[in-house]
Amino acid sequence: MKIIQSVSRMQRFVRSLPRPIVIVPTMGALHEGHLALVKEARRQAGKVGTLVATIFVNPTQFGPKEDFQSYPCPFQADCVLLRSAGCDIIFAPKAKDMYFEDRSVLVLESSLSTVMCGASRPGHFDGVCIVVSKLFNIVQPDVAIFGEKDFQQLVIIRRLVRDLNFPVRIFSCPTVRESDGLALSSRNRYLTLEERKQASIIHQALQRAEEKVREGLTSTRHLKALIQQEIYRAPLARIDYVVTVDPETLQEKSTFSLPLLLAVAVFFGKTRLIDNQLIR
Ligand code: AMP
Repeated sequence: MKIIQSVSRMQRFVRSLPRPIVIVPTMGALHEGHLALVKEARRQAGKVGTLVATIFVNPTQFGPKEDFQSYPCPFQADCVLLRSAGCDIIFAPKAKDMYFEDRSVLVLESSLSTVMCGASRPGHFDGVCIVVSKLFNIVQPDVAIFGEKDFQQLVIIRRLVRDLNFPVRIFSCPTVRESDGLALSSRNRYLTLEERKQASIIHQALQRAEEKVREGLTSTRHLKALIQQEIYRAPLARIDYVVTVDPETLQEKSTFSLPLLLAVAVFFGKTRLIDNQLIR
C-alpha cells in the first residue's frame, strides 16, 4: 500500500495505475461504515484494479463555527485499517496543496443543497462539490463509492457527476449501525456516555415511522410529528430538522407517495447527528 500526499505526484502516478480505479473519499477517523465502502471498492476493483482511499478533512465544507479544528485525525490508525482492508493507495493531501490561497473558481449546486443539511450548514455542499470535483480530477476514478448515511450528499454528487459530465460511476452502500441502531459516525466519539445512550432514539424513531407507513399512515405531517415526538423522548435531544421528501429531488411531497425519504438531523449537546430511512 502506498501513501501519497502530493497532488502533483498523485496526478503523475494515476497514469500508470491499472484500471478500474475505484475511489473511496473520506475525512478519516475511520470506522466500520467507511470500511464497508472500502470492502465494496475492493470487490469492484477486483484483483487487477486499483483501490484509492482518500483521507482529507476538507476545510471548505466546514462552517466558521463548526468542528474543523477539533475533527479527529488518527492518521496512523486509519492507515493500519486501510491496509488490512486491501487498500492499494491512500491519497492524503494537505489543504495547502489542494487549495490555492487566491482560488476563485467555485462549484455551486443551487437546488438540492438548499434544504436539509444545506439549509442548516450554509456553504457545506459547495465545499463538498469542489472537493469531490478536485478528487475526481486528480485521481481520475472509474467508480466512486459513497455511503447512504449522507443521503443528501449522495444525491448532490450524483447531480454533480451528471451536470458536469464526470466519467465516474457513483455507487452507494447502506448505512452501517451500532447494535442499538445508531449510525456509525466519526462524530459519535464526541458524545458523552449519556448522550450516546440516548442517541439510539434517532434510528428507533425513523423505524417507528416506517412501521406506521407500512400500517397505512399516509400523512407526511403526522409522520413528521411522530418522528419529532419519538426523538423528544430523549431529554438530551435537540432537533435540527425532520423532513419527509422525495429521495431524488429532496423536495417535500405535496401528496403522499413512495419512495419517501425520512431524514433527520439531531443535536446531542454540541454533536450534530444525521440519519435517514428510505421507504420504497
Ligand atoms: P466522512 O468521512 O464522514 O466524510 O464519510 C466518508 C464516506 O463514508 C461518506 O461516503 C459517508 O457517507 C460514508 N459513511 C459515513 N458513515 C457511514 C456509515 N455509518 N455507514 C456507511 N457509510 C458511511
